[in-house]
Amino acid sequence: MAVRYISTGIIHSGQNGGKTDYGEYTRHKPTHWENTSVKVTCQKNGCG
Ligand SMILES: [Zn+2]
Repeated sequence: MAVRYISTGIIHSGQNGGKTDYGEYTRHKPTHWENTSVKVTCQKNGCG
């Protein structure tokens, strides 16, 4: 599962309503994120 941060367009590993695999919390602002199936572009450890 991957999740896009809408304002930056960066794709993180993880899902909306929880957190990314890097540890960024998507559940705090769920309207700022959307689940997607495209390739992860985040370079942070745990995501990329
Ligand atoms: Zn990330």
